[in-house]
Amino acid sequence: MAQYKTDLRDIYFNLFNVLKIQDHSGVAENDMKDIINECNKFMEKEVYPCRTLGDHEGVQLKDGKVTVPPSFHAPMKKFYENGWYGIGYPEEIGGMPTPHTVSMVCQSLMNGANVSFAMYPGLARGAMDVILQVGSQEQKDTFVPNMMTGKWGGSMCLTEPGAGSDVGAAITTATPVGDGTYKMKGIKIFISSGDGDLYENVIHLVLARTPGGAPGTKGLSLFIVPKIRLDGKANDVRCTKVEEKMGIHGQATCELTFGSNGDCIGTLIGKEFEGMQNMFILMNEARLLCGVQAEAQGNLVYMLTEQYAKERVQFGKEIINHPDVKRTLVKMRSMARAMRSLILYTADLFDRQHGGDKSVSDEIAFFTPICKAYCSDEGFMVAIDAIQTHGGYGFCTEYGIEQFARDLKIATIYEGTNGIQAIDFTMRKVLKDNAKTFMTVGAKIQKSMMKPEAQAFKDEVAMIGKNLEKAQAIVQKFGAAAQANNMDALLFHATNFLAFSGNLVCSWLMLDNAIEASKLLGSASNQEEKDYYQSKIVDFKFFVQQQLVKNVALSQSILGFSEDLSSLKV
Ligand SMILES: Cc1cc2nc3c(=O)[nH]c(=O)nc-3n(C[C@H](O)[C@H](O)[C@H](O)COP(=O)(O)OP(=O)(O)OC[C@H]3O[C@@H](n4cnc5c(N)ncnc54)[C@H](O)[C@@H]3O)c2cc1C
Repeated sequence: MAQYKTDLRDIYFNLFNVLKIQDHSGVAENDMKDIINECNKFMEKEVYPCRTLGDHEGVQLKDGKVTVPPSFHAPMKKFYENGWYGIGYPEEIGGMPTPHTVSMVCQSLMNGANVSFAMYPGLARGAMDVILQVGSQEQKDTFVPNMMTGKWGGSMCLTEPGAGSDVGAAITTATPVGDGTYKMKGIKIFISSGDGDLYENVIHLVLARTPGGAPGTKGLSLFIVPKIRLDGKANDVRCTKVEEKMGIHGQATCELTFGSNGDCIGTLIGKEFEGMQNMFILMNEARLLCGVQAEAQGNLVYMLTEQYAKERVQFGKEIINHPDVKRTLVKMRSMARAMRSLILYTADLFDRQHGGDKSVSDEIAFFTPICKAYCSDEGFMVAIDAIQTHGGYGFCTEYGIEQFARDLKIATIYEGTNGIQAIDFTMRKVLKDNAKTFMTVGAKIQKSMMKPEAQAFKDEVAMIGKNLEKAQAIVQKFGAAAQANNMDALLFHATNFLAFSGNLVCSWLMLDNAIEASKLLGSASNQEEKDYYQSKIVDFKFFVQQQLVKNVALSQSILGFSEDLSSLKV
């Protein structure tokens, strides 16, 4: 197994030099660094070592009982004991308050170190957040303390055999008993952290239809369905299958059968028929976390690959010195760091919103599908490049490199496939918004382009400018297609449009990174620091020249064809 190594310097550079979170978070820079440093040590020592081990051990279903990888137990206990679960939550509930950016970095470190492991507390946090936001006081008092200590876990149950992307097709039912509780009946599939022996109880949040519920998502309500009822008796919910998967083998992905004996009890959380909007509290978080999973694994696998390429000798020199390998490494690094900047920029928007800036909520909505889909698509390619750079050892399991690709691929599928993200981005976040947020972001991009230090990157800035013009043309073309009700033609290009937008916003964030690095270059105190700042400039130039350049083709494919491809027969 390759030795764990994190680029803490680049994380700190993003937080404290580019985003300057110390100026608006009310927390001292050193205190935030201490938390991140400690978290990183914990992930290196406790969580990373069971990454490949957990992959081999897997999840078992035997005699109705689900067991997770045995190697996960001890580190998970320490994870809760050391307070890492509570990061970002208020002290009143036993948490460790931090800016969102800092808790996002901690999430990233954990997801990079071991994504299957990270998903157990990750799902618990998601379920707990819904309870904190829309639960009754009684529900909060009952569930939150037990979830904070790690006694109880959580899951989100939307998907059914006939209802995947089309969540509104769900047929699970909830029938009122008359005492305020409901009898649940149905089958949910692919449920992450759906069962196991890590927790005494699993608190399932289940979307179901009450009698008279309208068809589609409008008729769905959200229910709390504990695996073990509050009186200590087993609820009638059983894991009837553990999925065999391409990756995340340490994750218990379960088929759950509710009410096969007619005795599965659930309680409503939030208002009836507002289930989908309440579930979106969890899903929006989970979508960002998909982006984090990809960013985190992309960054870690880059660091491991760089180390390998510095040691592996072929033709009398380390392979990092062969131009093609060097190119691949810069490609991986610039993309991995671009994803990091994108995720941290978005996390900072949450902090600004929390600080009272209401104007950023549209930007959060705009960036969420980009974080989810762009990072998962591109992060997967970083993992593929890592395999290639390791040669035969990348394809074999010895170094644990191929596992990154296997574990990362799912991020393009769950929490709404990337195709669904592209529709959400194009229709809701751009067209329905009359491109208002797109223009807000465009104005920010132009502001960065006008900075005096940007003059040092004339060619790259000019290319970003051309992309802004193309973006405008695409939005106009989409607007005209929408007016003509030519939705199929428009949606045919949605995925390319999201990729185009991801390349554009990442180039902008990399420009800001390069500007800050160029400002600091002259005052670098040692060669290592100087090399780092230079690497940020290289990353930006490379990103524009080798990644943003793809937008020429993408925009041409969206704008340039007179013939409407969407009418073609497959
Ligand atoms: C490992 C794993 C863990 C999961 N964890 C959870 C969980 O914890 N909870 C939960 O509820 N679910 C979970 N899921 C389910 C996951 O969210 C669904 O698999 C996903 O939403 C896609 O649904 P589907 O698999 O039925 O694919 P489908 O909906 O059948 O989609 C198949 C393809 O068609 C495309 N497609 C479908 N509709 C459209 C459209 N309108 N326009 C364009 N393209 C379209 C999709 O993009 C996709 O490429 C998990 C799945 C897996 C594999």
